[in-house]
Amino acid sequence: MRLVDSHGHLQDPAFDADRDLVWQRAVAAGVGVVIPGYSEASSRDAVALAERWPTAWAAVGIHPHEAGEWSETCRRAIAEWARHPRVVAIGEIGLDYYRDLSPRPLQRAVFLEQLALARAAGLPVSVHSRDAEEDTLGCLGEVPEVAGVLHCFTGSERMARRLLDRGFYLSFAGPLTFRNGQHLRDIARWVPLDRVLVETDAPYMAPVPYRGRRNEPAWVVHTARVLAQVKNLPEKEVFDQIVANTHALFFRVGRTATAGGGD
Ligand SMILES: [Zn+2]
Repeated sequence: MRLVDSHGHLQDPAFDADRDLVWQRAVAAGVGVVIPGYSEASSRDAVALAERWPTAWAAVGIHPHEAGEWSETCRRAIAEWARHPRVVAIGEIGLDYYRDLSPRPLQRAVFLEQLALARAAGLPVSVHSRDAEEDTLGCLGEVPEVAGVLHCFTGSERMARRLLDRGFYLSFAGPLTFRNGQHLRDIARWVPLDRVLVETDAPYMAPVPYRGRRNEPAWVVHTARVLAQVKNLPEKEVFDQIVANTHALFFRVGRTATAGGGD
């Protein structure tokens, strides 16, 4: 693989008409994909796609917008999928105080439940955090042994440093390429190369030169290229390190392609 899109929702209805073509373009570009769920149904769909495509993997979890969906049945389903050999993370999970589509105490409770699931399964987490820096770090502090990535990082320099101190990876998406993304490029310049991932967050957040269009994994190349420019390093060196980072986080030693985590 030339690159891995660490967060692309290929199960999204936006791809219903041409999902296989989108996938073929990712393969042609040498891009593997981690497909995160955001609800119980979309997690199931992510697992199904990861079973079908050799360079796709799934994450399973309930997004804070869908926190109201949480139930014991849902918890059991996620715990069961967490043992699946193609499931590499619990996600996307987290807190969203910007849109506040679920009550904040419920968001925190569901986030903590899923962090506990990740710990039990020995899996990393893919975390969504918007306008919720303190509470996100507070929840992550409850499970110091759980590794993870802050997906579509658009936060402050202070948040970046605290996440790195916590052992997290930062994943950059389309906003890194936007004209108004200078503060992100300034952060990306100093974030250690061995702690960065890239992603599309497809179908959202398309990078320049596709901004505003439906995003797809093949386009993650544009974001990775900007990262290489910002760091003033050869493209291949940056791409290779991103793939190595993705392996280190999601395909860790001790968790092989056939052995899932325990309960
Ligand atoms: Zn997402």
